[in-house]
Amino acid sequence: MPSIVVVGSVNADIVTRVAAPPLPGETVLADSMAVLPGGKGANQAVAAARLGADVWLVGAVGNGPFAETALLGLRVSGVHLDAVAEVDGSSGVALVTVAADGENSIVVVPGANSTVDADVVARHSRLLAEAGVVVVQAEIPVSGIEAAARAATGRVLLNLAPVVPLDPEVLALADPLVVNAGEARRLLDDAGRPVPDAPFAVVEGLLELGPRSVVLTMGAAGAVVAEPAADGGAPVVVPSPHVRAVDTTGAGDAFVGALAWRLLAGDTLADAARTAVRAGAYSVTTHGAQPSFPTADDVLPG
Ligand code: ATP
Repeated sequence: MPSIVVVGSVNADIVTRVAAPPLPGETVLADSMAVLPGGKGANQAVAAARLGADVWLVGAVGNGPFAETALLGLRVSGVHLDAVAEVDGSSGVALVTVAADGENSIVVVPGANSTVDADVVARHSRLLAEAGVVVVQAEIPVSGIEAAARAATGRVLLNLAPVVPLDPEVLALADPLVVNAGEARRLLDDAGRPVPDAPFAVVEGLLELGPRSVVLTMGAAGAVVAEPAADGGAPVVVPSPHVRAVDTTGAGDAFVGALAWRLLAGDTLADAARTAVRAGAYSVTTHGAQPSFPTADDVLPG
């Protein structure tokens, strides 16, 4: 059965809630603290698995105290972990400070994620070649991202978060390239291109960088999708349902996991995005990243 292989980061998120974040040189007391599983790779793998996909993760954790927390959500949702290495040193850790006004400050310790390079990915080239959809983000070394995209024979979903410089040949394998508005701006700016305000113009600018298709996510406004091979490239707006947002952490990961799930099922990119916006919107209605992800019943019509 075709599966989804996610190549990416696995983190433990240490989340503190404070009235206001510390200024340089200042110490503040937190109102609460929680240690939660996170990392874009793990989040997206959990999102797709919770929706019912058969999901493998290629990644790494350390041999220290945070590994079990980092893997918890993956285990519970049935993601295959045979291709997750345990390496000496720390797991990836994100130190997240959430202020009373909802603003986040984050320090990320890459830890074991920084070992997921081309050599590690090459060990799983058969798994990648057999996958129906390979999902990659950018919290691992560039050589690992590029090796994963090149080893795929199925569809490559490249979520360029954060933006890192990639070989244009690798960008050309993305089908789709998924970015949010800030990442889109950064990508166009880094490429020396104009950075338009209008979403359609942004998507058209991104297509000129060479990916086979593009999805621009826009928070509450949903997404814009363009797939030249399927419909001549005219961008399509996919509105998100109106919801009361309580915590947007992981909305992008819920979206990407759902998009991969529907692409594997054979949906067009626009149809896959119609389900993915529902997954993203669902995830913002409750707290946290992985705990907020929907099941298939939560997002499929009827
Ligand atoms: P994050 O970094 O918070 O995980 P992101 O910046 O990568 O998210 P967004 O564009 O903010 O990605 O959100 C992804 C998708 O989630 C959107 O396309 C939309 O469908 C849904 N979404 C996010 N925020 C809201 C909201 N406030 N109301 C409804 N849907 C939302």
